[in-house]
Amino acid sequence: MATPASIKTTCCYCGVGCGIEIRRDRQGHLTLSGDPDHPANRGQLCSKGRYLLQVALDHDDRLLYPMVRPHRNAPLTRTNWDAALDHIAATFRRIIERHGPDAIGFYVSGQLLTEEYYVATKLVKGFLGTHNIDSNSRLCMSSAVAGYKLTLGDDAPPICYDDIEHSQCILIAGANPAWCHPILFRRIEAHRAANPDVRLIVVDPRRTQSAAVADLHLQIRPGTDIVLYNALAAYLIHHGYVDFDFITNHTEGFEALCNHLKNASLERAARLCDVPLEDLQQAAEWIGQSPALLTLWAMGLNQSTAGVANNLALINLSLLKGQIGRPGMGPFSLTGQPNAMGGREVGAMANLLPAHRDLNNPDHRAEVAAFWGVPSLSDRPGLTATEMIDALEKGRLKAIWIIGTNPALSQPELARLERAFARAELVVVQEISTRAATLQWADVVLPAASWLEKQGTMTNSERRITYLPRLLDPPGEARPDVWILCDFARRMGWGHAFSYQDESEIFNEYARLTRGTPIDISGVSYERLQRERSIQWPCPAPDHPGTPRLFTNHRFLTPSGRARLHPVPEPAPPEPPSPEFPFILTTGRVRDQWHTRTKTGKVARLNQHAPEPFLEMHPDDAAACGLSEGALAEVTGRTGKLTVRVHLTPTIKRGVVFLPMHWGQEAETADGRVNVLIPCRIDPISRQPALKFARVQVAPL
Ligand code: SF4
Repeated sequence: MATPASIKTTCCYCGVGCGIEIRRDRQGHLTLSGDPDHPANRGQLCSKGRYLLQVALDHDDRLLYPMVRPHRNAPLTRTNWDAALDHIAATFRRIIERHGPDAIGFYVSGQLLTEEYYVATKLVKGFLGTHNIDSNSRLCMSSAVAGYKLTLGDDAPPICYDDIEHSQCILIAGANPAWCHPILFRRIEAHRAANPDVRLIVVDPRRTQSAAVADLHLQIRPGTDIVLYNALAAYLIHHGYVDFDFITNHTEGFEALCNHLKNASLERAARLCDVPLEDLQQAAEWIGQSPALLTLWAMGLNQSTAGVANNLALINLSLLKGQIGRPGMGPFSLTGQPNAMGGREVGAMANLLPAHRDLNNPDHRAEVAAFWGVPSLSDRPGLTATEMIDALEKGRLKAIWIIGTNPALSQPELARLERAFARAELVVVQEISTRAATLQWADVVLPAASWLEKQGTMTNSERRITYLPRLLDPPGEARPDVWILCDFARRMGWGHAFSYQDESEIFNEYARLTRGTPIDISGVSYERLQRERSIQWPCPAPDHPGTPRLFTNHRFLTPSGRARLHPVPEPAPPEPPSPEFPFILTTGRVRDQWHTRTKTGKVARLNQHAPEPFLEMHPDDAAACGLSEGALAEVTGRTGKLTVRVHLTPTIKRGVVFLPMHWGQEAETADGRVNVLIPCRIDPISRQPALKFARVQVAPL
């Protein structure tokens, strides 16, 4: 293809959605830099973003051709696209005939572009006739989605990044943006440097890099978040730090919340959360007195059996203070993946329909069916990411098509995953990299195009839609995901509904489907995005400027128009303490790696920061176990064990150990498969797995 001298695109790693500029010089060399005009990052990039071009141009690990294997014990061998897709279509037809459409599932990814997500959703929900499509966003965001819906009436992050520079008190809960959303954190740091009165409070069981530079670090015991937020809510109410006008006119549930909080206090929280009382008092006063409270959270709250409850308890604070819908304030869920938002928008999850329509609403199902030109949509609920694996294991799900995600490392309780894949009749893996551990289970491998090799759109954490142009040809026979899916649809006999000329036609179709909904983007087009660079939804008309901030009129999307305050009960611990497993294991990320390292693991400079997996442990705990810095430890939980080197740090709480989540089994003595230790437990509402909690034993090898 003819290549332009320069393009503007968007980073494909995290939900910050930084703008990137790529230039081609006269010799044809490409260089990458932050886009100074992009409102998210204003020219800055973090370490991961800076090395993206190296990742994109290094084809050593790329999957180049379709591959199949006749049976599980045979090696994968090269085939062509016709044979691979015909084989999948024939197998799907046979399975559907025998077992119905719910015997098939699609597991997709927050890395996909919105057009890809949309076509996958239309194919599965509209034409295959099942809601068994779920995104790996289930693993990071679904508790926040449910939290927003239950409080604000819709999955509608109300803030924009510019609110950082207007905030007076920033409360970061269960997130380490200094490492995981670095460009946003730099904006926080710059805002504090220019405004020394701005307070930063970080709630985290670990002294992360974000916590280390905070004015106050509340190092709570894992799993005690709700005790803390309930105590802070009670303090705000008792000390008159609430906005009664807002509560009276724009919320419901205040009385029930007050009754529920009768026994909540900072003293009790100090005891149960294991945090000094004076620190809690200081935090409560800063939050109470602040004219602009901004709360940010991520996996620390979401990946829990009480994930939704954690969200509700935190959002209560913003609603009690009436601080939402104006500059510098509101609840802001940090999105992990670059296009987790896009997947939620198009309905690429088991419990959603496009444009935030409700799967359980017959009118919404009929609307979407009519739009797609199909008689009806299934009224049976879909299987979520972990439920699909359970169903494979039980033999209810016969085939799974995995696109752009690596569940062989990222799902909880990996032993169960191996049993499930072993029982599947067909596992299709649509991937870019030979580094994906899930390939070991693939019966069919479909090589996909990567970043810069396809065009489409993504939505970042602040609802900002950006256009990503195609710059490079995919290597070998790799194809953009969207055209793989359309080709498959044609082979199933549905070509009439998937005969798009290009990606803009897909975008326009999806945009029409949003018309009249809270996320209406019928005023957005590729032409506008190419001209204006990015637009925040909703944007219901071609001359509409987009919407930086939601709920500015304090009318919410609940049936009553009022935001809901929730009394949030304290949850039972997901697993009681036991002498057999005396440590609480928590998990997280390191600065320079992304997900399961299929991309960042290719870059030597990024690997230098943390060359191998490690177990972080307090020196006193380690001494009690007979371990020293660098020693090999066997970590054993209820669902498995692994061997890893110990790294000692006095900044972790005693009784808590930490493992990063990026690595596979690198060597016998460097096993980073943390999810062998994490039991598959899910939040009852969001069905998000609790990936941050297990009880384990640690012993010298
Ligand atoms: Fe990419 Fe996120 Fe880093 Fe920005 S902050 S460069 S979006 S990884």
